[in-house]
Amino acid sequence: MNRIPALWFVLHVACALCKAQVTRLEFAQPGVHPASWYAWPARERSAYADARDTTAWWLIVDADDSANGLGENLAEGEVLRYWAAFTYPRTYARVRTAGLKGDAGFCPECDVAYCARHWRTDGPERPAKCPCVHGR
Ligand SMILES: [Zn+2]
Ligand SMILES: [Zn+2]
Repeated sequence: MNRIPALWFVLHVACALCKAQVTRLEFAQPGVHPASWYAWPARERSAYADARDTTAWWLIVDADDSANGLGENLAEGEVLRYWAAFTYPRTYARVRTAGLKGDAGFCPECDVAYCARHWRTDGPERPAKCPCVHGR
């Protein structure tokens, strides 16, 4: 198992075609504010202070398929699970163990991630297809 970096770290997933951000996961250690905290308005800092368990990690998810706003408390075991899921070389089989909605944009057959623009759909009820016309 890889060691978790100190204080905080960010895991990025970019589209294989256009390099647009598909998923951004920001982790902050127990007792450490997320890096973006300094830029938050007072009301958001207050909501965060009420929600934050200072003995737990904090995770902010910013993704095409899912986002959790200011973030949520996270147990260290979960941090390790994400860390392992996003270890290089990144594969669909590995990334899907993170359990993120949309599997961080990964196509099971291409084994790379695509942004929402490159996961095409013919309409709201139609399944999305990757640029190689694989389904999700
Ligand atoms: Zn793209
Ligand atoms: Zn594909």
